[in-house]
Amino acid sequence: MAFLEIKDVHKRFGYLEVLRGVDMSVNEHQVVCLIGPSGCGKSTLLRCINGLEPIQGGEIKLEGDRVSGPGVDVNRLRREVGIVFQSFNLFPHMSVIENVTLSPTKVLGFSKAEAREKAMALLSRIGLEAKANEYPDRLSGGQQQRVAIVRALAVEPKLMLLDEITSALDPELVSEVLNIVRDLAGQGMTMLLATHEMGFAREVASKVCFLYDGVVHEEGPPEKIFGNPEHERTRAFLKRII
Ligand code: ADP
Ligand code: MG
Repeated sequence: MAFLEIKDVHKRFGYLEVLRGVDMSVNEHQVVCLIGPSGCGKSTLLRCINGLEPIQGGEIKLEGDRVSGPGVDVNRLRREVGIVFQSFNLFPHMSVIENVTLSPTKVLGFSKAEAREKAMALLSRIGLEAKANEYPDRLSGGQQQRVAIVRALAVEPKLMLLDEITSALDPELVSEVLNIVRDLAGQGMTMLLATHEMGFAREVASKVCFLYDGVVHEEGPPEKIFGNPEHERTRAFLKRII
């Protein structure tokens, strides 16, 4: 049984059917990279996985439990599945430490002191403990995105979804964010990430899935997808992007 199983998932916005039968799986400790042209549904798929969007067909299972459709405990799902977006989405009126401790206190019921201690440990892991009391607008984009990752990690999710988390960053800030993802991969965090960073995908991915025309058009180990893709569409996409 895969850790995350996506079976024949269909997602429509009105008449637009964005996902037309997506099948994909992520095993525990795997890093799966989702690639594909802009508008192909990468963000939509990630949002469906943690219950931010309902699906119209198919099924999503996490550790064998159905997490899509009626009767799902969405709050529990969102504790188990962390998501980080392209735009950093920190709460602007809260300091860094308040951003990171919010969910552990509100959702997990940690005491303030306990949440703070954990948050400081996480912040020191990414070298930002000195910024604990700053507000997001005083941080660089790279620092904000690193805090956003730590905020998602603070509830100890089983799975992390990362949606093009370096796309909004100045080029010189990309590596500090990718380094954190690399560390998480090294620690065995299970991750599904939508990315345009093909070099990075090649380095960290256990598996690469090419989403095209509403389905996973081709998938395989990075050496195969980047080195010797089977399908013409995959080749054409990679030619344009690399
Ligand atoms: P990607 O992340 O691969 O660039 P998206 O998942 O953002 O693609 O979008 C896939 C398609 O779904 C696009 O055509 C987009 O316009 C459409 N879409 C995404 N979100 C919505 C929404 N909330 N309402 C209507 N259409 C949407
Ligand atoms: Mg997107």
